[in-house]
Amino acid sequence: MTARGSLALDELRRQLEEIWRHLLQNPIPARVGCDLDEVDAALARLAAATFGMCERCGRPILLARLRVIPTLRVCLACEAEATHC
Ligand SMILES: [Zn+2]
Repeated sequence: MTARGSLALDELRRQLEEIWRHLLQNPIPARVGCDLDEVDAALARLAAATFGMCERCGRPILLARLRVIPTLRVCLACEAEATHC
């Protein structure tokens, strides 16, 4: 893990914690992937160092996408595949 990479993870962790606090006060998901279970799961993945890896193919998920939706579990290719099913 590069210094730059862990910096991005810190930023995403803060973002997730912020969403989590927001959800405790206002349990209605404000946007995609923001329910408490998803945020919890994403924080668990951060702790286990599997955060940012696609759950289906194991490839890294683009940081730009994680910044928009930090609770993402799969990469773009797998997501596209899933929606076609
Ligand atoms: Zn994938």
